[in-house]
Amino acid sequence: MLHRHDFATATRRAPLPRRADPRPLSPSRYLILRRKAAGLSVHDLAQRMATLYLATQPRNPDEHLSHVVGTMLLVVQALELRGATARRPATIDAIAAVMPFDAAVYWQLAHTGPDRHPRICRGCGASTHDDAPVAWATKTSCTRCDPAGDGM
Ligand SMILES: [Zn+2]
Repeated sequence: MLHRHDFATATRRAPLPRRADPRPLSPSRYLILRRKAAGLSVHDLAQRMATLYLATQPRNPDEHLSHVVGTMLLVVQALELRGATARRPATIDAIAAVMPFDAAVYWQLAHTGPDRHPRICRGCGASTHDDAPVAWATKTSCTRCDPAGDGM
């Protein structure tokens, strides 16, 4: 028979302090990591966004694919600038619709402090939010990017 005294009572301790990430990931860097992991150039991504745009927006007969691609190219280039954050959620939703990219992760990186950031691989941008589970080699890299787990 078990008695209460068979178990040591855990003493309550103050929560451990969160350790600040010395290299917090920026939203623009997250976009670059995900785009490259998908094997897409900036132009490839712009092309996909333009195709989506033309397929979903009421068609303006004057709007040609090459023109929309050019506009999307400028959008992607601006979003990938260091320190850039999208102004329109629809832009980020469009990116998430055409390549593996988590809009929630993007906004979390943009709007919350580094201590609230999700775990993200610095090699490919995979995160704990992805549909496919990520195997972690280190705190900041997945096993695909750093199979030995000896740091990147
Ligand atoms: Zn990775």
